[in-house]
Amino acid sequence: MKQFLKLAEFCKNNNIAYDAEKDRQFNIFCDLLEEKNRVMNLTGVTDHDEAEIIHFIDSVEAAAVINELYGKDTNIKVLDIGTGAGFPGIPLKIVMPHAEFVLADALNKRINFINEVISAANLENITAIQGRAEEIGQSGMRESFDICVSRAVADTSVLLEYVLPTVKKGGLCILYKSGDYRKELETAAYALDVLGGTLEDVKEFCLPESDIGRSLVIIRKINDTPLKYPRRPGKPSKSPLIMK
Ligand code: SAM
Repeated sequence: MKQFLKLAEFCKNNNIAYDAEKDRQFNIFCDLLEEKNRVMNLTGVTDHDEAEIIHFIDSVEAAAVINELYGKDTNIKVLDIGTGAGFPGIPLKIVMPHAEFVLADALNKRINFINEVISAANLENITAIQGRAEEIGQSGMRESFDICVSRAVADTSVLLEYVLPTVKKGGLCILYKSGDYRKELETAAYALDVLGGTLEDVKEFCLPESDIGRSLVIIRKINDTPLKYPRRPGKPSKSPLIMK
């Protein structure tokens, strides 16, 4: 079993609780990721040292923001859209045991993998569902989450149509971005306005022992999202809400 010392240090420096049980759960997740990645395409990074930085520390960054805004032990409801192999949802769940999580992805094989992780690591109050963001936003789950997170799923103008319909008015969307988020935000200004959001903050990070820059773009939902959004599956990416 590996001790995720860099992750533990990151958590300590960011006021996120970390202990031996969480270390055990991250080990189970990492072992399963390595094992299953041999037979299905889950991620390019399974080496434990690399995954600790690229996947785990990167994913838990939002916990610092959420703890600061909501308090550490709050029973909030969080959705991860396009979770893939469980990022950022699984690491966030491990360090935020009091929050309720729903992890969603369009691909069922990834959901099956996540269910294996949930069961092996004894994670509670977490559900993995197969579904497209466009369907979730028009289902009974519409406007039912306090926070929606999403990493590496789509350009901001498209992503906003996936995430904003899912959160309650007053709730947050936390978008994990690499590269030039400013340019994406400029293009997404129209979508942000139409869908009822406003830019609250951007937190910039550099992943430890690397020059890899990451940003958390924090969007607050200040108005109801018009009922016609999200549009039908495929429409947001084919025809993003951009002022022509
Ligand atoms: N968030 C994970 C990460 O950071 O490692 C996975 C990123 S992967 C590049 C993008 C994921 O988003 C894929 O698993 C894909 O199936 C999912 N996805 C793309 N569009 C989606 C949509 N409209 N609804 C739900 N999932 C979607």
